[in-house]
Amino acid sequence: MAFEGLTEKISSAFKHLRSKGRLTESDIKDAMKEIRMALLEADVNFKVAKDFIKTVTEKATDAEILESLSPTQQVIKIVNEELVSLLGGQTTRLTISPNPPTIVMMAGLQGAGKTTNCAKLAALLRKQQQRRPLLVACDVYRPAAIEQLKVVGKQLNIPVFDEGQGDPVEIAKHGIDFARKNGYDLVFLDTAGRLHIDEKLMDELKNIKATVKPTEIILVVDAMTGQDAVTVAQTFDEALGIDGVLMSKMDGDARGGAALSVKAVTGKPIKFIGTGEKLGDIEPFHPDRMASRILG
Ligand code: GDP
Repeated sequence: MAFEGLTEKISSAFKHLRSKGRLTESDIKDAMKEIRMALLEADVNFKVAKDFIKTVTEKATDAEILESLSPTQQVIKIVNEELVSLLGGQTTRLTISPNPPTIVMMAGLQGAGKTTNCAKLAALLRKQQQRRPLLVACDVYRPAAIEQLKVVGKQLNIPVFDEGQGDPVEIAKHGIDFARKNGYDLVFLDTAGRLHIDEKLMDELKNIKATVKPTEIILVVDAMTGQDAVTVAQTFDEALGIDGVLMSKMDGDARGGAALSVKAVTGKPIKFIGTGEKLGDIEPFHPDRMASRILG
């Protein structure tokens, strides 16, 4: 799982502080240098790391902190608070429409984990919120994608609406009508993914968005791609507008830089994380728990 190196290096910086007892501004600066290096080695965006260190340094070099009885504890508290804030502050839930069905448009590049996580998320919300989900196959370019959605839908016992390789905008509309008529209150649109972001893909997603007016657009990005995941999120947000991120493959990413950078760079929160290949491997994202884990 992510953050192993980061945890180790941050605790080493704190250990150095503890060994000093009373702290001076220069002790704090040395510790911050260590933490900055640790963030960069974890593949955190350069500017995000720089701003983080600046904020923590300003707060930690306050006279009240330096003169307190346990200054290192205070510094750890500040680092923790700023990490929580960097990860998005509070847990951000999926918005549920007051007029069902809630329509969640899932977007992402091919291979990011969109199709599997679409089904995982549907199953999670069925379990946690007793929703009745429907999956709609709008990725019409790859027959394998429709088949894959059907396979995971079947494994989880979640129905899949598909019309083969038709017009994705029409399929989305028909799927939502079908949900309305049959009492499904949560619709996931599994949209097309491509290997790279291109204009045609964005135009299609914009068309679906304009036509069905989804309650939320969730972008699936692959944590293992590091800062590329952040760039993808930024590009999708600028072109399409996204409401949140599902960060997949957190289990395979040893560093954690994407998770630590995406909110600061895009302004959009991580709402869920994929934590493995099994269909139960998905969790709501809790910034406070993640920060505690990073601090070990
Ligand atoms: P799509 O092309 O974006 O629809 O991607 P898929 O849903 O087909 O996923 C691509 C691969 O990533 C599949 O082999 C999934 O099993 C795998 N995958 C998806 N999410 C996770 C995750 O959270 N952890 C791991 N280890 N693998 C994942």
